[in-house]
Amino acid sequence: MSLNEQYAERATKVIPGGVNSPVRAYGSVGGTPRFFVSGSGPTVTDADGVEYVDLVGAWGPALLGHAHPAVVSAVQEAAARGLGFGASVPAEAELAEAIIERMPEVERVRLVSTGTEATMTAIRIARGATSRPLIIKFAGHYHGHSDGLLAAAGSGLATFGLPGSAGVTDATAAQTLVLSYNDLSAVEAAFAAHDGQIAAVIVESAAANMGVLPPEPGFTEGLISIAHKNGALIITDEVLTGFRAGPSGYWGIERENVAEGVTPDLFTFGKVVGGGLPLAALGGRAELMDLLAPLGPVYQGGTLSGNPLAVAAGLATLQHADSAAYARLGMAADTVAASVTEALTEAGVAHRIQRAGTLLSVLFGEYSEAPRIYDDVLTQNIEQHRAFFHAMLADGVNLPPSAFEAWFVSAAHDERALERIAEALPAAARAAALA
Ligand code: PMP
Repeated sequence: MSLNEQYAERATKVIPGGVNSPVRAYGSVGGTPRFFVSGSGPTVTDADGVEYVDLVGAWGPALLGHAHPAVVSAVQEAAARGLGFGASVPAEAELAEAIIERMPEVERVRLVSTGTEATMTAIRIARGATSRPLIIKFAGHYHGHSDGLLAAAGSGLATFGLPGSAGVTDATAAQTLVLSYNDLSAVEAAFAAHDGQIAAVIVESAAANMGVLPPEPGFTEGLISIAHKNGALIITDEVLTGFRAGPSGYWGIERENVAEGVTPDLFTFGKVVGGGLPLAALGGRAELMDLLAPLGPVYQGGTLSGNPLAVAAGLATLQHADSAAYARLGMAADTVAASVTEALTEAGVAHRIQRAGTLLSVLFGEYSEAPRIYDDVLTQNIEQHRAFFHAMLADGVNLPPSAFEAWFVSAAHDERALERIAEALPAAARAAALA
């Protein structure tokens, strides 16, 4: 038995499914999940000593690559000073300032520990600000695992074919209206049907938990305008896209395409902003954010919120995510996308590359037009993805173990890493063709 298999067997006895987050379980691809023991730059190494070029990137945080020396030493220095005090540390404001610098729409930031908390708190602020009960989310968008946000939620729920989660009361589920993405008339209709009842619309800045599905031209602007016309807030979820799709997230790309003054009200961040440690954030205009306790009546708190190690990791990551890093990320994404298309086309495998800034994903199947909604991606060829995934893994490339997840390049993906991916692709494409 390989060490990976031994660890999996051991973990399965004491941890449900052997994993602490479902998508790690290789649920839709089968086989033994790899246990990673180290990572460096563009690569990760498993328990059996096999090195892979990594395209999971810790599901987003590893923007600069694994164990970036500046991030590691920032964390080591912070750790040597103390692991946390349950009181504020100076660097918290520095991280808030670094976020605001990239997102001028944000005037105040609160640091939390997970993206789930960030979206949950943003919704609480929206309800507190509007005194309205309902929220709108879009099918296939994932905003973490708080009760009200698990319906038609993409990510692990897509991977495992779950419509929602058991354990969510009907009363809670009824407060979330799930609409079809990219469909402004559905949004108009929901506001008409629930006049004065909708507190907020929460939307992934570019959907990236059902594969990557950027909003159609005009959708973001229309959505913000409709919500505002109806007295509701827009929560733009940048947990995945923030400081990753581009220097100021996907909103930084959209900002150019919307009329001046058309702006989301609240933003949520995670992943990159914590540099690989448990940290996420929410931010927005002062008048909304100052509704949070201790200034206002909306409560949120956390023993580990603003933890000094996590703040140090996030700050070091943002400080090193300069224009050269984004140029490198964009180049790496372009190169991977081109190599995948070349190999799959050569093998006769119908597919579509999806992009949102430096994010990419690959859809297996006949797509003559760009997919627009969740249903469009649910019909993709999962068997081909499975065969492709395992062939890539066998050739030393670690892809997301789900057809519904984005691929994450890093600024550390150098020529050699990109070549290794290109070398693995033809055999994987042939395996997909046979599936
Ligand atoms: N929102 C989005 C858009 C996400 O992609 C995720 C995580 N993949 C979350 C929220 C939840 O973040 P976390 O897993 O840190 O709770």
